[in-house]
This record gives sequence, C-alpha cells and structure tokens, in this order.
Amino acid sequence: MGWSYGIENGRHVGYGVRATCDLKGCKTKIDRGLGYVCGNMHGGGEFGCGRYFCSEHLTYIGYPKGQFCFECAEELEKRFPKENKEWNKRWNNLIGGKVNE
Ligand SMILES: [Zn+2]
Ligand SMILES: [Zn+2]
Repeated sequence: MGWSYGIENGRHVGYGVRATCDLKGCKTKIDRGLGYVCGNMHGGGEFGCGRYFCSEHLTYIGYPKGQFCFECAEELEKRFPKENKEWNKRWNNLIGGKVNE
C-alpha cells in the first residue's frame, strides 16, 4: 500500500497526514503512515486496532508477527501464548535476549 493520503474508518490516514500519537496524553508528533499503525496496515488488519502511535507506544511481537500498540500486544500474547513464547525464543536467539519471555 503506502498511501500518502487516504481515508480509513472516517479518518484521514497515510504518511502525508500529520497527527499526534493516539495514546491518550501522548503529544508526540507522527504521521499516519504504515510505520506508525497498530496491526501493520491501515485499518489494523486482522489483529490490530488500526490506531496510530509513536514509536515509544508501539511494540513488536512474534505472533501474529508485527507492530502493535501495547493494548493489542497484550491481548494477542494472551490469545496466542504458545506461539508467542516460541517466537520470543527465536527473537532472543537472533537479537541476543532482549525480548521478555
Ligand atoms: Zn492496537
Ligand atoms: Zn505516543
């Protein structure tokens, strides 16, 4: 995809749209490009919420693989505990033990 501008769920989205992080109280300036979306695609895909967060308020999980806001990540780690454990192990091997098990 990689739109500079579009509309998703009635909001202006795309990397051409200037915004602030969707976390309540966070004023960090971002754009609404794919680099900041929860769930890896506009609208959030199958697992994300599709809101846009600064890099501090996004996290990476192993399964389903991708970037999510803390809320969704927590939800997904509960929903797929076995897969995430497995993936976190693999990530730890790759990056030297930085992911929580
Ligand atoms: Zn989310
Ligand atoms: Zn933020």
